[in-house]
Amino acid sequence: MNASSTNLETLAIHGGTPVREKLLPYGRQSIDDGDVQAVVEVLKSDWLTTGPKVGEFEERFAERVGAKHAVAFSSGTAALHGAAFAAGLGTGDEAITTPMTFCATANCILYQGAAPIFADVSRDTLNLDPDQVSAKLSSRTKAILAVDYAGHPAALEELGELAHRHGALLIEDASHALGAEHRGKRVGGIANMTVFSFHPVKHLTTGEGGMVTTNDHGLAETLRRFRNHGISSEARQRQEAGQWYYEMVLLGFNYRLTDIACALGLSQLRKLDANLARRREIAAQYTAAFRDLPEVTVPVTRDEGNPAWHLYPIRLQLEMLSVGRGEIFRALRAENIGVNVHYIPVHLHPYYRERLGHKEGDYPVAEEAYERLISLPMFHSMAETDVKDVCQALRKVIAQYVK
Ligand SMILES: *Cc1c(COP(=O)(O)O)cnc(C)c1O
Repeated sequence: MNASSTNLETLAIHGGTPVREKLLPYGRQSIDDGDVQAVVEVLKSDWLTTGPKVGEFEERFAERVGAKHAVAFSSGTAALHGAAFAAGLGTGDEAITTPMTFCATANCILYQGAAPIFADVSRDTLNLDPDQVSAKLSSRTKAILAVDYAGHPAALEELGELAHRHGALLIEDASHALGAEHRGKRVGGIANMTVFSFHPVKHLTTGEGGMVTTNDHGLAETLRRFRNHGISSEARQRQEAGQWYYEMVLLGFNYRLTDIACALGLSQLRKLDANLARRREIAAQYTAAFRDLPEVTVPVTRDEGNPAWHLYPIRLQLEMLSVGRGEIFRALRAENIGVNVHYIPVHLHPYYRERLGHKEGDYPVAEEAYERLISLPMFHSMAETDVKDVCQALRKVIAQYVK
């Protein structure tokens, strides 16, 4: 311990008073009376599912992200499955993806009987490194599945070019990146297909829900069929046309999103700009607050990216600290700061190790980042005092463990 240790505040984990009385979560939804009203109206209407709210939500969403088509799904995971199907992935095919993501990104490749091939990430953004992707391309590569980690757009142009030169599609998992921009273009109209999630921690929620956007009419048609059992027309179209006949033309699923959920989504979409502005404000506050803290590396924004800030992941300079990430994490939780870790690299999960033969050491940049990552709370309704509490708690904990 150094001489200044006498001035240190006792950490909550050592019996001191926590910075906050109540736990601040790392993410949460914002629901207002307008959202509630929109849902109640649908509950009293004729259509709880396959009704008019679905198309309305899809249209507004497509407009907002600058895409020609949007197809709603029952979850982001179902939307990823739809995109993997529409990309034509099947047995014997490969799709190249990132280990620095939630497991659903890679799992959707497995759902189609294809092989997820991981490529390591760039050190700054922790997004797929195009050079690493290039080295993994093979005659079996049908898709590149990039993730906009924490809301910072992936290297979409480089990855798009690699994919197109190879006759493959670029699928973007933009579950973190609704409202983000890449070289002045909105995420959603850039890749061949872009996938969004409406889980409550994301920018916009429908409870559970997801969306695929695309500028390709054929892909949109396939996505619509896939989410509805592979049937080539929808129930309301048939009812309106007074028809009973329908055809199932491919093996799909019931991945439909309800009108109840779409009404909530429409109402939430109106508040997206305010939500994004608040997240950008919080990110700027964190970045300014930790500028003089050499033990903490803040997220990097590249010139071409305008991130949507789903997460604010810091990296610890472990060489300057006397304890590892686990101890810092537990100390912050004891201060009632609901930190989290995004992500355990996908290839290190038991299923991927034991069933698919992946191992530690395969993707060193992602693995090294993982040892250092902590996601700080980041959501629309965080108050100024919440942001201050996070800054205070991080300083308090780091001061205790500086070497
Ligand atoms: C949230 C998330 C998903 C899954 O979305 P669900 O709507 O929960 O199914 C997929 N990929 C990433 C990167 C996510 O953050």
